[in-house]
Amino acid sequence: MEIIKDLKKRSSELTDLHHIMALLQWDQEVQIPTNAAQDRAGQLATLSTIIHRKEVSIELGDLLLEAEKQIAHLSETDRALIRVMRRSYDQSTKLPEQFVADFSRLTSQALNVWVEARKRSDFKMFSPLLEKIVSMCREQAEYLGYTNEPYDALLDLYEEGLTTTQVASLFEEIKDPLTEMVHRAKQMPQQEINISKDLERRRQTEFAEQALQKIGFDFTRGRQDVSAHPFTTTMGHNDRRVTNRYNPRSLEFIFSALHEGGHALYEQGISSDLNHTALDNGVSLGIHESQSRLWENIIGRSLPFWQNLYPNLKEHFPGLFDNLSIEEFVKGINVIKPGLIRVEADEVSYNLHVLIRFEIEKGLMEGSLPVKDLPVVWNQKYKEYLDVEVDSDANGVLQDIHWAHGSLGYFPTYTIGNMAAAQFWHKFTQLHQDYEAIIAGGTLEKIRTWLTENIYRHGSVYQPAELLQKVTGEGLNPQYFLDYLRQKFRLPDPMT
Ligand code: MG
Repeated sequence: MEIIKDLKKRSSELTDLHHIMALLQWDQEVQIPTNAAQDRAGQLATLSTIIHRKEVSIELGDLLLEAEKQIAHLSETDRALIRVMRRSYDQSTKLPEQFVADFSRLTSQALNVWVEARKRSDFKMFSPLLEKIVSMCREQAEYLGYTNEPYDALLDLYEEGLTTTQVASLFEEIKDPLTEMVHRAKQMPQQEINISKDLERRRQTEFAEQALQKIGFDFTRGRQDVSAHPFTTTMGHNDRRVTNRYNPRSLEFIFSALHEGGHALYEQGISSDLNHTALDNGVSLGIHESQSRLWENIIGRSLPFWQNLYPNLKEHFPGLFDNLSIEEFVKGINVIKPGLIRVEADEVSYNLHVLIRFEIEKGLMEGSLPVKDLPVVWNQKYKEYLDVEVDSDANGVLQDIHWAHGSLGYFPTYTIGNMAAAQFWHKFTQLHQDYEAIIAGGTLEKIRTWLTENIYRHGSVYQPAELLQKVTGEGLNPQYFLDYLRQKFRLPDPMT
């Protein structure tokens, strides 16, 4: 059909442009010379403008309308392509140009102020800008449209179809059990791993590469490099890259490799039939995060995984783990230690950090929580849910970059990811009850093949909720995540 051919041509061109953009950004994060930063910013701005014009073009809008008229006669993949292109077209065209320019100016100013405010640990400095951001986010929601409440429009930007009511009820189910677990964990004796000698950088890189190889990352279609914050990016169907960072006294590099590796496996597993289309991406942030967390935590922090890899780690860093049994090592990488910082949180307390941000964002959007009250409310919630005292705004309300970015509605996708990971994994273990032997055997191919068949190869063809339903036979159910934690950490069910 001519129209579909036309749409695919446009999608292919836009995909190329986005990949070129990703290459410029990757270069900026990984290896750009210091003095080239300003020129690069200009290049990125120029390219963004070109992409934006193509994305909001009247011809594309007309094509979409025409294609939608014929939707009943199209294949599942073509229908999905129209859905994804419509979604991005609407998101780009519903916001007036003036609004986009103002919002971008506001957030780049806010970013600078946030960096300074965090350095000085002074929320009052950042507060006036956050007020403006919240008010513009409300405006943004009005432009984008929603059925029930403005916050829904923001959630949907990051997780297609997600609503405030749904997030609230998911958190309702995990809030008390998790708080209870955190309190119980505080009574348990736990031993962190003490790294007594610097880990050689070259050996860290090598080991991270081996870990990536172990989970099936394809180095002929990707790379691992170094950046300030680890990330995964795509610059072509056969070019999905990860980055990592290395500290001399930390094992973080292993779990970063597995986390970003999980994101990359998802992308590398997308069917080549979807190449050069808008469907050649993971479907949402939540489903993406489910794959990073699955490989990082559920598999990567399990005893069977290390039964296979621990001898290798010992060999790489001679003498360092001699007095640590594998059981002690695995306990050491799974210590539950409620703290102030989200990105350092363990699996049990992590989602309470997200819950706090969700409750605050909801209050901000509804107008029931004034920005100026944020530090007090933040600190109260940390005391209530995590039983920790916040010592400063820097370690409290100012710790995350998301609000300065103007990204309200983003945080819940982290929790969706953790829940979905446990639910997908439950399904896999039902089908493969020898899952521990599979992991300990070191060939993780069976797992990767199942994930590829059921999740990865589809790219963005199915909406997040639809995919979950298709693979696991039900909607997002937080009980799998709670069961997983209870079984893993052997904390008794607080209800019994
Ligand atoms: Mg991630």
